Formats: sequence, C-alpha cells, structure tokens
Amino acid sequence: MSNEAVAELKELLGPRGWLEGEDAATYVADIRGAYRGVALLVARPASTEEVAAVVRLCNRRGIVIVPQGGNTGLCGGAVPRGDRPCIILSLARMNRVISVDPLRYSVTAEAGCIVQSIHDAAADVDRAFALDWGARGSATIGGAISTNAGGMNVLRFGNTRDQVLGVEVVLPDGRVWNGLRALRKDSSGYDLKHLFIGAEGTLGIVTRAVMRLHPRPPRDQTMYASVGDVSRLMELFALARSIGDANLTAFELIPGHMVDRAIAKYPSLTRPMETRAEWFVLVRFSGRDEITEKLETFFGEAVERGLLTDAALAQNMAQEQNLWNLRDEIPPLKLMTGKMLKWDASVPIDRIVPFLAECEQRARAIHAPSKVIAFGHVGDGNLHMSIWPEGKPGDPVFDKLCKDIVSAIDDLIWSYGGSICAEHGVGVENFERVRGQKTPLEFGMMASIRALFDPKGIMNPGKMFDPAYGEARDAAE
Ligand SMILES: Cc1cc2nc3c(=O)[nH]c(=O)nc-3n(C[C@H](O)[C@H](O)[C@H](O)COP(=O)(O)OP(=O)(O)OC[C@H]3O[C@@H](n4cnc5c(N)ncnc54)[C@H](O)[C@@H]3O)c2cc1C
Repeated sequence: MSNEAVAELKELLGPRGWLEGEDAATYVADIRGAYRGVALLVARPASTEEVAAVVRLCNRRGIVIVPQGGNTGLCGGAVPRGDRPCIILSLARMNRVISVDPLRYSVTAEAGCIVQSIHDAAADVDRAFALDWGARGSATIGGAISTNAGGMNVLRFGNTRDQVLGVEVVLPDGRVWNGLRALRKDSSGYDLKHLFIGAEGTLGIVTRAVMRLHPRPPRDQTMYASVGDVSRLMELFALARSIGDANLTAFELIPGHMVDRAIAKYPSLTRPMETRAEWFVLVRFSGRDEITEKLETFFGEAVERGLLTDAALAQNMAQEQNLWNLRDEIPPLKLMTGKMLKWDASVPIDRIVPFLAECEQRARAIHAPSKVIAFGHVGDGNLHMSIWPEGKPGDPVFDKLCKDIVSAIDDLIWSYGGSICAEHGVGVENFERVRGQKTPLEFGMMASIRALFDPKGIMNPGKMFDPAYGEARDAAE
C-alpha cells in the first residue's frame, strides 16, 4: 500500500516535487545528527493547493506527515519518529515573499520563506522585521511560527506570537483555512491563529503568513562590556532599561571563556577589547543620534556603581557586525566536543542569577567535572544553557548520571517557576520531560484540541505532546 501511495504522491507532485534515497538524507536527520528517522519520501510541494492535495492523500491512506522548514529546531521536531509509514513535507519550495506593505506595516510570505529574506524585503521599504537569531539564514517563517521562536529582539518587540497577524493553514484533513488577515484588532471570537503558533506542526501545516513590520530605526549601536559583579546583573539591566527606555533593543549575556573559544576558532572575528572577564554583556540601543550619548551615560553610571569595568562601543557597521557575529558563534555546539545536555529555558528575570548559581551547584553535586555554560537573552529571562559531563555515551554509569543531571535541572527550573522549553519547541528532546511542567488539566485540554483537529493522529506524532505516544499518554488521563 505504501508503494501505491508513493507512486500517487510522485505523480501528484511532479518530478521537482519529491526526493528520496540519498537525496533525502539531509531531511531525515536533524542538523546535529542527534535525531534520525525514516520517510517514504520527502514531498516538496510548490503551492498551498499542492500541500492540500498531499495532505488529503495522506489522510485517506493513514500516512503520517512531518512538516519541515529549515530543520534548525535542534530538538528533533522536524524529523520522523516511530515506525508508521511517513512522509516529510518540506516547505523549501514555498519560499517567496508575496507582498510587503509599508503603510500597513506588514509582510505576507510563504511559510518556507527564510527569515533573512523577510529582513531584506522589509529593509527595501524602510521597515524592520523583529525576528532575529543565529539561524536567520536557514530557519523559515513557518518554523518560527510553529515553534513560537524568540531570539535577540524579544526584549523590544516580543516573540513570534507578537509578530503574527494572520496565517493560512492546511488542516489535517486537507481543508485550507485562509486566516490571512492583517488586522491589528479583531474581537470577533476565538483568535484561531494562536492555536497554530507553537503547535509544532501537530494541528496542520502553515502555508502562508502575514507578519508585522516595524519602523526601521535609523541607527543601531552596540556596546560590549565586561561585567563587574554578575550577582548584580539585574541592577545593570534595570539601569540599561531606565536610560535606554524604548531605545534598548537587546541585552545579551555571554561568558568570557566562550568569547575566547569563538575568537580562537573563527579568524574572521576580532576581539572587541583586550579586557578579560568572566561575563560580558552586549547592550544594543536603536534610534536616532542620541543613542551614543545614552550608551555613554549608561556606561559611566554602571562603572560608578561597580556594575561594569570596561567597554567597547561599536563605532561603525563593521564593528557592529563583528559584535553580533561574535554573539552568533557563541553556541557551545560549535565550539565544544562531547556529550551536551541542553536547555533553552526561561525563569523569571529577577531570578536569573541565583538560578545560574544553583544550576552549577546541582550539576556539580551529581558529577563534579560538569561544565555549565549559559548565555542568552537576559531581558526575557531566557537562557541557552548546556551542561557537559565527562564520560562516554553508552557507558551505563555515564548515561545514568546524565539522566540524573537532566531531571535535577528540570526540577530546579520548575522550582523557579520557569519553563524547560522557552525556545526551539518540545520536539522529541523534551517530549517526556515536559510532562512535569503542566497540570493534567492543561494536558487534557491540549489532548482534546489535538484530537479535534487530527482524529487520525497523522500530524507529526510523538512530538510536543501526543497522548497516543509512550508515557505522555498517562498525563492526559
Ligand atoms: C544557531 C542557532 C541559533 C538558534 N537560536 C534561536 C533563538 O535564539 N531563538 C529561538 O527561538 N530559536 C533559535 N534556534 C532554533 C530554530 O532556529 C527555531 O526554532 C526556528 O524557528 C526553527 O525554524 P525551522 O524553519 O528551522 O523549523 P524546523 O526545525 O524545520 O521545524 C521546527 C518545528 O516546526 C514544525 N514546522 C516547520 N515548518 C512548519 C510549517 N510550515 N507548518 C507547520 N509546522 C511546521 C516542524 O514539524 C517542527 O516541529 C536556533 C537554532 C540554531 C541552529
């Protein structure tokens, strides 16, 4: 039956519309190679109508569909899981910016459109697009919507949920919901688009979206500064807020030893200043000319209070770019080897510092040589955190201690009122673990919504939350 379905799909999609075998290799595994699955074929539809036809066929034949954008999610959400016959539905060919409307401050794009392309299209009409993070050159707008992505500008503009004005979605039975409205206000009942934001492809396939644009600030200027006393990080952040006000558009925390590693690895990066420190912050103000003055005032007051010790202020585009390239190259995945345990977590912002200290203590109490690396978006309480224990995966003692560390840190995050998945999504990586984060009532509501949209369970099974899968089943009861 699968052979027949594959033949039907190939005919429906035409020769450019599908891949299989070797050509599909990069689609069936995630970019780290941490998750790998099996697919009958990779469907590459070129229009909403083709997506709908593929979904109808899969629904009729009970074939599982895994939507995939840029495959940068890093938690196994976009690769197949399990042994049911399955296709990957890649949005790669649906990558156009359809229209940019500077007066409405909106852009309409196909779901496979790369995030960077939306930045470029917005800049062409003197507007700005808010979503920005290291994978901007390969992540798609459909993936951003489906994971409710965040990034560097959340502090000023909010996350993806705050940028979406409307969506078009192919539902699991193949019907197309055209919710491409660009309205700022609409009180006419349930705002259904929000169901698809952060749904990780479980309720349907986002095919197009209308996204919010913003006025383009005339100038961005970033300061790279060494932190005097990390225990007073929140005081520093509050100072940046009060001086920068609406000009403050980013406030990132980065560890000094990762700066050293990134500079050693990438010759294109320049060390912003010779001062070494345990922690640095990147503070960006955006606006008119007075931002330089404001940044200097911020620095002066911060030094006086012992919050900062030294700083380099970007003086031109090349220096500005260098600072953000440095930030992009900090993720330890690119700079370290060995087994990484990772969290894209959030805690209330005033608890970041005690949380970091306790995190290190807990990891080391279980396994003394653990290295704890944290960096991220201080203004949102969102930290990319990783722990690197020493040992060999596959060794039962090592595997057990990794498990113990993960559950100790998850518990710690929850004890701080935080989330173990603040970005990237749940995927497979956090599928079992996320159970500890919500009540049975919440899981029950999620299960009802999933069953209502997708009674046959063909949309991305075993991801996010799936009552039909493993242990998570109990949580829904
Ligand atoms: C270097 C690096 C830095 C990153 N930094 C950040 C960061 O700061 N903040 C952040 O939030 N994320 C970050 N990410 C994670 C990632 O880029 C985002 O989660 C992004 O939104 C994923 O987009 P994608 O197109 O790659 O989606 P994919 O990885 O392809 O898919 C992600 C999920 O969405 C589903 N999906 C994809 N497209 C659709 C669609 N059209 N319809 C329905 N479901 C769909 C998939 O099935 C999967 O469940 C980073 C990743 C990397 C590699």
